[in-house]
Amino acid sequence: MSDKRIKTIALIAHDNKKSEIVEWAKSHIDKLKSFNLCGTGTTAKLITKNTGLKIKAFLSGPLGGDQQIGAGIAEKKIDAVMFFCDPLQAQPHDPDVKALLRIAVVYDVPIATNKSTADCIITSAFLDCER
Ligand code: PGA
Repeated sequence: MSDKRIKTIALIAHDNKKSEIVEWAKSHIDKLKSFNLCGTGTTAKLITKNTGLKIKAFLSGPLGGDQQIGAGIAEKKIDAVMFFCDPLQAQPHDPDVKALLRIAVVYDVPIATNKSTADCIITSAFLDCER
């Protein structure tokens, strides 16, 4: 346990899940406003466009955005990840996806890979606790 609260959340969605993460962000907008937000390029811009949330956009996922978020976790600049991934379509950057999941486990960072888990994390008292 460190003494760090969750401050920065990364948002990522594969193409078939982008509308789902936009709706999810709308439904949790008040909570999300209280965090620093970042995300892979297309996801971040789409959520910002549809919700007005301020989100730092990294590169698009297939062009290195997942790796940038992984680096942010390793550097302790990203504290949680909402990753709406598509299990039914092959991703050209699958090695990057696996690396991101792995590094989140290494650093014990909460990472949701579907909407239900994202709902659990964003509504959890754990978010407000010292870690
Ligand atoms: P994108 O990347 O938000 O730039 O589409 C998401 C992904 O990792 O596929």
